[in-house]
Amino acid sequence: MKRDYYEVLGVSRNATSEDIKRAYRRLARQYHPDVNQGDSNAAEKFKEINEAYQVLSDEQKRATYDRFGHSAFEGANQGNYGGFGADFDPFADFSNFGDIFDFFFGGGTQYRRERRPKATKGQDIKIEITLEFEEAARGVEKEISFSRTEICSDCQGIGGKKKVACPHCQGKGEVRHTQTSLFGSVVTSRPCSYCQGRGWIAEDLCSSCRGSGKLKKERKIKIKIPAGVDSGYRLRVAGEGEAGENGGPPGDLYVHIKVKPHPVLERKGSDLYYDLELSYPQLVLGDEVEIPTLRGTEKIRIPAGTESGASLRLRGKGLPDPRIGSRGDQIIRVKLRMPRRLTLEHRQALEKLMELERVENSLEGNGDNRKQSGVFERLKEAFNRPE
Ligand SMILES: [Zn+2]
Ligand SMILES: [Zn+2]
Repeated sequence: MKRDYYEVLGVSRNATSEDIKRAYRRLARQYHPDVNQGDSNAAEKFKEINEAYQVLSDEQKRATYDRFGHSAFEGANQGNYGGFGADFDPFADFSNFGDIFDFFFGGGTQYRRERRPKATKGQDIKIEITLEFEEAARGVEKEISFSRTEICSDCQGIGGKKKVACPHCQGKGEVRHTQTSLFGSVVTSRPCSYCQGRGWIAEDLCSSCRGSGKLKKERKIKIKIPAGVDSGYRLRVAGEGEAGENGGPPGDLYVHIKVKPHPVLERKGSDLYYDLELSYPQLVLGDEVEIPTLRGTEKIRIPAGTESGASLRLRGKGLPDPRIGSRGDQIIRVKLRMPRRLTLEHRQALEKLMELERVENSLEGNGDNRKQSGVFERLKEAFNRPE
């Protein structure tokens, strides 16, 4: 049960403000913590005296108290003196009073408050890694190292052996300033600069982090890179960023991926392209050729009559899409290879071919309708010599 404020100061209900001030000064000197070191009774008493004085010395608060008693200030008195009080701030214990007074007095006193530091998530870290084409295609587990700030494990981020209430703000983390003008008084609270608004300071500084509570550390972790990633992909590793502030969680690590190109296969999304040059007879007659794929070389069939510029699609031989898992294709772009040098034999074969085509054209000119299929068949005959 709280004692009556008048009783605490030992004054009557109709005491003047002078009486109250005088009583307060006398009692404050008597019970001041500096005079009564280690006496917890005195500290309690000192706190009680201050509280009573803060209310009774203020005309408006005193009127409120006279009308409503302690209930007018309930919940407002959670401050902890903890043995301090040398820098006595008359508003120190009224951190929640703004609403109450605005309610009773229609804003005669304004309270302005700057934000106190909140628990915030740490910064994200960005690193870049370069993968071989095959690593990106198949997926890989990579060990990566980077440096980040971590909570000092020797002091659990406190910066010292223990936390003690900040002597500048009596552990409240904020300092109040009152400005009186024609329009009433304005109370501004600012985060305490001595403790950065935390309300506590570290005692016995930690030698590992020199009081900062954080340490820059080299960190090595293994990350799984899914198959099919490409340059420009970004992986997020939750919680591997910089340490948070004021007890907030750490940030995230973002791994930006670069993939080296394949020596012969060209990548477009999850499809792979390969340019294949074939001779005229190979295009006309069809052939079986070896081509490079993701899994080494593979034999593929070129159908007879493939045109230069045509594409052959090998379904599912591309890269997986890391997001949906389906595989792309390998696409073979066929081109006619022009012979650079002709041997005599070559030349003779081609001349023979040309002659045949001339005959064919003249037959077409005569209204013969065997047309292209006819040419085609003859070409086949020309090349398919019995073995
Ligand atoms: Zn402080
Ligand atoms: Zn430390």
